[in-house]
Amino acid sequence: MSDPASVSEIVDVLEARYRPAWAQPWDAVGLTCGDPSAPVRRVLLAVDPVAAVAEEALRWGADLLFTHHPLFLRAVHGVAATTPKGRVLHTLVRNGVALFTAHTNADAADPGVSDALADVVGIGARAPLLPLPAEPLDKIVTFVPVEHAQGLIDAMAAAGAGRIGNYQRCAWTTEGTGTFAPLPGAHPTVGEVGAVSTPRETRVEMVAPRQRRVAVLGALRATHPYEEPAYDVFEQASWPGPRGTGRVGELAEPVRFDVLLDRLVTALPATVVGVRAAGAPDLSVRRVAVCGGSGDDLFEAARAADADVYITADLRHHPASESLEHGHPALVDIGHWASEWPWLGLAARLLVEDLAAVGATVETRVSTTCTDPWTRHLVPSPARDPRS
Ligand SMILES: [Zn+2]
Repeated sequence: MSDPASVSEIVDVLEARYRPAWAQPWDAVGLTCGDPSAPVRRVLLAVDPVAAVAEEALRWGADLLFTHHPLFLRAVHGVAATTPKGRVLHTLVRNGVALFTAHTNADAADPGVSDALADVVGIGARAPLLPLPAEPLDKIVTFVPVEHAQGLIDAMAAAGAGRIGNYQRCAWTTEGTGTFAPLPGAHPTVGEVGAVSTPRETRVEMVAPRQRRVAVLGALRATHPYEEPAYDVFEQASWPGPRGTGRVGELAEPVRFDVLLDRLVTALPATVVGVRAAGAPDLSVRRVAVCGGSGDDLFEAARAADADVYITADLRHHPASESLEHGHPALVDIGHWASEWPWLGLAARLLVEDLAAVGATVETRVSTTCTDPWTRHLVPSPARDPRS
């Protein structure tokens, strides 16, 4: 039987999956309120930390509310219950409910918010529409007496070097001849002060995450038999990584645009704003770009990625109109809340899995309160069509 998690254990697990460093500089993510030592048996996941969702959390007996959107995005000087946000905070604190947010760091995560939307659409293998640079890497090169090479590789690997995909302890070695002449005061492992030595050495090359540089060099120096080990640190060029905003990929087989739209309205949660689209109904769609949330700054990326259709939310008149003038991609606006809601189920499943890996359990529930702000959608009578 596993133990219930504490708020701080949940925060650790969530911040490993949605690292705060991936958030945009203007964003506000992490724990908004909550006692780190408090036990958490129930986590409610929702898009918006609004009053209706806070009430839902209380009704269900949640100990932690995990939302996509932050309660406070801008600095405040007080949290009195005289404003809607202050009231939400008071409701949560008074009832011992913690609030945690993963916003643009969840957009950037792999899998992230747009992956859940891509799953709804049926996109298979995919890449970020706007990739973040991959984790910066160093290449560390050192020269060690031949018989010490394998031990040194072990030590550097244990400190974090030599990991490439699903492989560890990756290294390249070549043998050659080193040379040096120890000066007075030196305590050479090989050779003597004042005499030239020419030992057989192995050149060892390993990659390492830049953030592990100090640890890897520490392991190198601690394990290397020489008083003054020679080593080089090369910073690798940066390249696009697996994380970033939006996703683009292909459907298993091409479908007509109107069939894809039918699929969307069937799979997405019901909202009053519904789905708006621009594009020929018989357009053959294979390559699809998606971006959960407001995506009208990614038209060019969707076009550059050769997407037949771009599915996102919050599309404004001018950017949408200008994008369509290019001839592709066709556009679909599914509403902000509906575009992000599918991620909640994915996030809940991953939270349970990640906690199980550290021996803790939690019960999760995805909020069914639709917090899309629009509650009426009227279409003017065809009699008022200015074209008729
Ligand atoms: Zn959003």
